[in-house]
Amino acid sequence: MARKPTLSPSRITTFLACPSKYLWTYVDPRGKWYLRAKSYYSFGTTLHKVLERFHDEGDQGVTTVGDALRIYEESWIDAGFASAEEMQEAYGEGKEIVQSVVNDAIAKREEGVKTLAVEKLLKADLGPFELIGRVDRLDERADGTIEIIDYKSGRSSVTESQVRDDLAMACYQLLAKRLFPDRAVMATIHALRVNEKASASLSAQDLEVFEADIKQIGQTILSASVDDYSPRPKPLCEGCDFLALCKKDPRFE
Ligand code: SF4
Repeated sequence: MARKPTLSPSRITTFLACPSKYLWTYVDPRGKWYLRAKSYYSFGTTLHKVLERFHDEGDQGVTTVGDALRIYEESWIDAGFASAEEMQEAYGEGKEIVQSVVNDAIAKREEGVKTLAVEKLLKADLGPFELIGRVDRLDERADGTIEIIDYKSGRSSVTESQVRDDLAMACYQLLAKRLFPDRAVMATIHALRVNEKASASLSAQDLEVFEADIKQIGQTILSASVDDYSPRPKPLCEGCDFLALCKKDPRFE
């Protein structure tokens, strides 16, 4: 039996932002030749790696701020920075972030918060496709609530309403609720740069409506035709890696 197609929050948000971008990112292999390394991806990947190792219960080598800083140094990715100065500045900022976030995490452990999983792939069968999502961290709070934590390294602020309206966070809640049907589930975005967090929890009714919406969007994506992928100029085009490709298309005007 053929495997069902899979859709992730990244795929869905990319399609909603620009179907052509979806085409070049996920469907047409020519797109990969146009992708450029970006400093914010390198920076974010390094921070994610440190926090993944710190919160992984099976990784006994990373339990203190000193250990986390050692992993930070080992995991540093220098791709995408415009100059050595820019990289040094980011490196120093990242060190401060690691210190502050890890100190905060140590305090949370003392409050009885348990990390259940890191970099966990969640899945749910939604009929014509499988919804998948990799969560940065899944915690169990002292009262039994399951908390999904998503790290954002580029953001300098976050609010409850932003978490509530975030498509990826709603997908993660839907997926986590399938895994823990009897538990309260909440989602948190952790803006690492400022060590700020905001959380929101969708009600059972909200999740039901969201599931119906996401099924409909998923079907639109899966049945997209060549015309649906037509490039159309939009504010997002400025700075998009695929602009040169889209400009070759006579429909891009
Ligand atoms: S250049 Fe514009 S139309 Fe083309 S993929 Fe990027 S955002 Fe979409």
